[in-house]
Amino acid sequence: MNQHINRAFEWVPPELQPLVLITLIIISVIVFARHAWPKLNLLLKAKAENRLDQPLKRILTTLRIAFAQTKLLQEPKSGWMHALIFWGFLILLIRAGEFFIVGLFPQIDSHFSIAVPFIIPYLWVKDGAIFMITLGVLYALYRRLLIKPDRLTLSGEGLLILGLILIIMVSDVLFDSAFLALHPDIKGSGPLSALFSPGVGLLGEGLIGQLHSLAYWAHVSAILFFLTLLPRSKHFHILTAIPNVFLSRLTAGNGLSRIDFEDEDSFGITDIKNFSWKQMLDLHTCTQCGRCDRVCPALATGKPLAPQQLTVDLRNHLNQEPSSLEVSPPLLGGIIQDDTLWACTTCGACESACPVMIDYVDKVIDLRRGLVLTEDRYPKGFESAFKSLETQSNPWGFPKNSRSNWATEGLNVPIWDKSQPTEYLYFVGCNGSYDTRGKKISEAVVKALKQAGVSFSILGNDEGCTGDPARRAGNEYLFDMLACKNAETFQQKGVQKVITHCPHCLNSLKNEYPEFGAHLEVIHHSEFLQTLIADGKISTGEKTDQNVVMHDSCYLGRHNGVYDAPRNVLSANVETIQEVAQSRDKGTCCGAGGAQFLLEEDTGTRMSHHRLDELMVTQPDTIAVSCPYCVLMLEDAVKAKGLQDKVNVRDIGEMIKPEKPS
Ligand code: SF4
Ligand code: SF4
Repeated sequence: MNQHINRAFEWVPPELQPLVLITLIIISVIVFARHAWPKLNLLLKAKAENRLDQPLKRILTTLRIAFAQTKLLQEPKSGWMHALIFWGFLILLIRAGEFFIVGLFPQIDSHFSIAVPFIIPYLWVKDGAIFMITLGVLYALYRRLLIKPDRLTLSGEGLLILGLILIIMVSDVLFDSAFLALHPDIKGSGPLSALFSPGVGLLGEGLIGQLHSLAYWAHVSAILFFLTLLPRSKHFHILTAIPNVFLSRLTAGNGLSRIDFEDEDSFGITDIKNFSWKQMLDLHTCTQCGRCDRVCPALATGKPLAPQQLTVDLRNHLNQEPSSLEVSPPLLGGIIQDDTLWACTTCGACESACPVMIDYVDKVIDLRRGLVLTEDRYPKGFESAFKSLETQSNPWGFPKNSRSNWATEGLNVPIWDKSQPTEYLYFVGCNGSYDTRGKKISEAVVKALKQAGVSFSILGNDEGCTGDPARRAGNEYLFDMLACKNAETFQQKGVQKVITHCPHCLNSLKNEYPEFGAHLEVIHHSEFLQTLIADGKISTGEKTDQNVVMHDSCYLGRHNGVYDAPRNVLSANVETIQEVAQSRDKGTCCGAGGAQFLLEEDTGTRMSHHRLDELMVTQPDTIAVSCPYCVLMLEDAVKAKGLQDKVNVRDIGEMIKPEKPS
C-alpha cells in the first residue's frame, strides 16, 4: 500500500510531499486572509447590534432555512440545483479532510477508508454527493449558457467557480478509480470508482499512477484555489450565508432602531461605514440570485430601484480600498441615487424572498434618514406632509381638533374617560379619522364593536398620528416627537389594550412604541373580529356567493405575520375566497407603504394598477382588503381603469353584516 502512496505522489519526491502541500496551504491561507481581513475588520469596528438572543429559535431557523433550504426550494428548479450542491458539499467536507490528511501524513494509508469496511457506506454516500453536485453544476451551466433567465448574470467568475467544482468532483472519482485499478484485490469501494476503474485500468500501470497523482494534486489545488477566490467574489456567501441566517432578525416589523439625538453628530447613514455589523454582513452574503428583483413591485413597475443592484452597489462600495474610497463619489446621491431610495415602498417582499435572510427595509430607511436628517434632501411631496404632521398630527394638514368629528357627528362613539376607562382603545388612525373613504371603514368597525358589546372608546382629538409615515420617510426626528407624544397620552390615560384597523398604526404601536415606553397589547381589527365571530358575538347572516378575492396588506402580513385572521372573518361572510398566486407572503404591494401615498407616482406604471391587474385575473366582484391605504390605492386604480361597475374594494370590516345574536 505504501508503495502505492509513493506512486500517487510521484510528481513530488515522497519526502517533500507534505512540505509542498503545507506551502500551498500557507500561500492559500495568506491570500484568503489578505482579502477577508479588511471585511472582518470593518465588521468588528461597525455599530453594535445584538443578534444572539433567543438561541434556540435561531438554531431552528438555521436548520430550516440554511440546512433544509426551505426558502430556496420555493423555486423548485433552481432550488433543487442549489440544494443538491449545498448538501453534497456538506457530505464532502469529510472527504476534503481525508485528502489533506493523507497528503500531510503520507505514512497514513491514503485509502484507509477503503480498507475499513465500516467506512464503505460513507464511500457510497460520498459518491452519491459527487453525483448530486455534478448534476447541480451541469444544470447551473445549462441555465447560464442556454436558458439564460433575465435575473441570472453570466459572469466569468461564476463559470470559473462552476468549473472548479467540476474539477473537484472529477478528480475525486479519478483518484479512487485509479487506486482501485491499481489494487483490484481491494474489497469495497464507492459505486463511481467501481464504475470507472475498469476503464482507467486499460491505461496501463504507469499511466494509472500518473493519473492518480494528477487527480490528487488537481483536487487539493482546486480546493485551495477555491478558498482564495471566496473573499474576492460573491461566493463569499458560501462562508457567510449560514451565519447570516443564524443572526437574522427574529422580530416583527422593520427592525428599525431609535436615534439618540443627544448623542450623535450625524443621523442616519451617510457613510457606508455607518452601517451596523449585521447590515454589512448582509451585504457580503448576497448570492445575487435575483429573487428579490423578481418580487419587487418598484422594479416591476419601472421605478429606478432594483434591490439586488442596491445591495451589489453598497457591497462594492463597502469593499473599496481606503485609497479609492477617498476619490469615490459620495454614498448618498453618488453610489446610491436618491430616487432609488425614494422608490421603495418598504413592502418587505424582497426580504421574504431572500434565501439568505437579507434585510432591506432597515437599510433603505437608514439611508433615507441620512438624506432627510443630515443632508436635508427629500421629495417635495414630503414637505407639506412633514409640516402637517408636526403641527396637526396628520399628514394632510386637517385641523387637529377636528380629528374626532367623524365619530361624534351622529355615531356617538365614546371618548376615552380616564375615570371610567373602557377595556379597549380603538385607535382610529389618520386615514380613518379624516379621509372620506377611510371614515366609512371606521364606521363599520364601530358598528361591529358596538353590536358585539365590546367595551371600547376612542381618544378623540387627543389621538395623534403614530408617526408611521414620518419614520418610513426617514424623518426619525418627527417620528420620535409623535411617538413620544402618543406614548405619553397612553400612559396618562392608562391605556393598555388597543384595537386598530390600520396595519401601519398596528406596526408602529406594537413593534416600535415599546422603545418609547408604551407597552401595549395591540390587535388588528381582523384578529379581533375573528374572535368575536368565533365567540358568537357577531352573527354574520347569510354568506354571499359573490366572487371575492383577498389582497394582503404588507404591513399586516409580511411585517406582522397576520394572514389567516382576515380570511377567517371573510369566510364567515363569503362562500369562497379566491386567491391569486401573489398572495399571503408573496402578496404584491398596493404602492402606499413607505410613505409613498404622500408622493406622486410619476415614473413607470402605477403600482396600484399593477396590483389590480394581478387581482383581476380571478374576475372578482369584490376585492377584500384589511388596510385602509390599500383600499384607497386599489379603489383609485379601479376608477382609473373604469372598472367601477365590475368590481368594488371593501375592507373586511365592511364585509361583515353585524347583527345581534337572537
Ligand atoms: S421593500 Fe419592496 S419596494 Fe422596497 S426594495 Fe424590497 S421589494 Fe422593492
Ligand atoms: S438580496 Fe437575497 S434575494 Fe436578493 S439577490 Fe441577494 S441573495 Fe438573492
